[in-house]
Amino acid sequence: MALIVQKFGGTSVGDVERIRNVARRVKETVDANNQVVVVVSARSGVTNELIARAKALNPHPDEREMDMLLSVGEQETIALTAMALHAMGVPAASRTGAQAGILTDIRHTRARIRSISGGDISAQLNAGKVVILAGFQGSSETGQVTTLGRGGSDLSAIAIAAALKADICQIYTDVDGVYTADPRIVPNARKLKTISYEEMLELASSGSKVMQNRAVEFAQKFGVIFEVRSSFNHNPGTIVKEEAASMEDVVVSGVALDKNQTRIVVSDLPDRPGTAAKLFQSIAKADVSVDMIVQNIGRKGLANMTFTVARDDTFRAEQAVANFFGDGEKGAAHFSADDIAKVSIVGVGMRTHTGVAAKLFESLASAGINIQLISTSEIKISVAIAPDDAEEAVRVIHKAFALED
Ligand code: ADP
Ligand code: ASP
Ligand code: MG
Repeated sequence: MALIVQKFGGTSVGDVERIRNVARRVKETVDANNQVVVVVSARSGVTNELIARAKALNPHPDEREMDMLLSVGEQETIALTAMALHAMGVPAASRTGAQAGILTDIRHTRARIRSISGGDISAQLNAGKVVILAGFQGSSETGQVTTLGRGGSDLSAIAIAAALKADICQIYTDVDGVYTADPRIVPNARKLKTISYEEMLELASSGSKVMQNRAVEFAQKFGVIFEVRSSFNHNPGTIVKEEAASMEDVVVSGVALDKNQTRIVVSDLPDRPGTAAKLFQSIAKADVSVDMIVQNIGRKGLANMTFTVARDDTFRAEQAVANFFGDGEKGAAHFSADDIAKVSIVGVGMRTHTGVAAKLFESLASAGINIQLISTSEIKISVAIAPDDAEEAVRVIHKAFALED
C-alpha cells in the first residue's frame, strides 16, 4: 500500500462537474489499494475575485484580514470534494491547514511554513479515510489564519508529502506537464519528460506559474520527487527531480514569461559608498524581493537606481523608498514605477555552452524588440521588455533555440 498525495488546482475543481471528476480520480487511486491525501485549491477565479472585492473596499487592505478572506476559497472546495467522495461511497474527511498542524510564521499573505505536525491525518488514513486538505493556508503560533503566497496550494502538497513521507506526490493541473514554454503562448511547445529542481525553480521564479517557486524550493530541500500531470487525461506528466548527468546536453530547457513585474527608478541618490546598501536594506525590511538591478552614475554626485519587483510589491517598495529618504513626500518625488515584462531562458546546459546570450539578444533584435534591462545567473538569462512585446518575444526566443515539438 502506497501513500499518495494528489493536488488538484483551481481549474481542476472549477465547478461541480469537475469536482466530481476529481473525486472519480481519487476513487481510482483508492481502489488500487492506496492511501490518499488530496490537496485542493480554490475554484479558479475565486481567489482573484476575493482580492478584487477587498480592493474595492480598501486599496491597501490589512493583510491579516486578507488571509481571513482568502482562506475561504479552499475551505469551500475541501468540503465539496469530501461530499463528492461520500456520494461515491468513499470515506473522506476534510481538514483545514490549522487542523493539519501547518504552522507558519506571521507574514500574512506570504507566510512561510515552520513545521507540520499533520494533526490527525495519519490516524484518519489508517482508519481508511481519504483526507482532503485545504491548500494555500496555515496557522500561526497564535492561531491566526495565514496564507502561503499565490499558487501556494502547490507548497501545501509538497510540504504535506514531505511531512508524511508520502511515496508519490502528484500535481494535477490543466496541462499534462511542464512544457518548454507556456502552451497558451507557444502552441507547439514541447512537453519535458523530466526537469531538474534547479531548472524548475528558475522557471517558476521567472513566471512559469505551472508550479509555485516556493513549492519547488521546498521539494528540492526535502528531496520530494513530484510529477506534474493533467486532471483531464491519463497522459504521463513531467517528473521533477535532482539533476541527471544527461540534462547538461540540453542548453535551454524552457522559456518563461512574467508579466507581473514593475520597473522602479529611484532618482537622485547620493553617489557615495553605502547608498545602495542603505536603500536595499530599507527595501528588504519591507519584505520586498528585488530582481534585476542597474545603477546609472548621474551628474553632480547623484545617481539613479533602476530595479524590478513583483507588481504586488510596488506599494511596499514605494513606502520603503520613502522611508529611505526619511520623508514621505520627498521619497515619492524620487520614485517612479512602470509595468514591465520579464522573459527568461533557463537551462543547466548554459554552464557549459557559450553564445547563449548573444543568440537570445539576436532573436529579439530581429523581431525589433527593445531590451530595457538584462540579468544573468549560472543557468538563466532574463531580459525586461515592454509588456506589449512579451508574447511575441517568447515565441521568437522559443523558435531561435529550436525548442518546438
Ligand atoms: P493550477 O490552478 O492547477 O495550479 P495554474 O494555472 O497555476 O494551475 O498553472 C497551470 C498553467 O501554467 C497552465 O495552464 C499554463 O498556461 C501555465 N504555464 C506557464 N508556463 C508553463 C509551462 N512551461 N508548462 C506548462 N504550463 C505552463
Ligand atoms: N487559491 C490560491 C491562488 O489562487 C492558491 C492556489 O491556487 O494554489 O493563488
Ligand atoms: Mg497554480
